[in-house]
Amino acid sequence: MHEWSLAEAVIATVIAESKKEGLEEVTKIKIKIGELQQMDSEIFEFALNEIAKVQDASLLTNMKIEKDRERAIFKCRVCGNEWAFSETGLGEGEYEAIHFAPEVAHVYIRCPSCKSPDFEMARGRGVLIDHIKGIGTGK
Ligand SMILES: [Zn+2]
Repeated sequence: MHEWSLAEAVIATVIAESKKEGLEEVTKIKIKIGELQQMDSEIFEFALNEIAKVQDASLLTNMKIEKDRERAIFKCRVCGNEWAFSETGLGEGEYEAIHFAPEVAHVYIRCPSCKSPDFEMARGRGVLIDHIKGIGTGK
């Protein structure tokens, strides 16, 4: 049910932002899903559509949903180096392990520059709304 609560949060944000922007109708939203966000994107999209349907009808009726993957980016806390998940050269098994529990990343990954295991995931976790397009009064 994890996908449903994420979808609810996204729709709530879309509605709040649309009101702020003075939109009368949302035509398209673009959502970025982190590479390491553990989620079934088909269930997520289904949930978005279902939740949108029961909202204020005129606002979200014609909303199209576009999804994009956001690449996971790591940032070293020691030397400031940034690198992408794809550059770590990990195999499928490690990828699955990290996908399932991103905390595990520290077991498998070291900074490619200074070899420190002290890094953070700068991007690639969570879901964010990239943009909202709509028709409104334009205020
Ligand atoms: Zn480093």
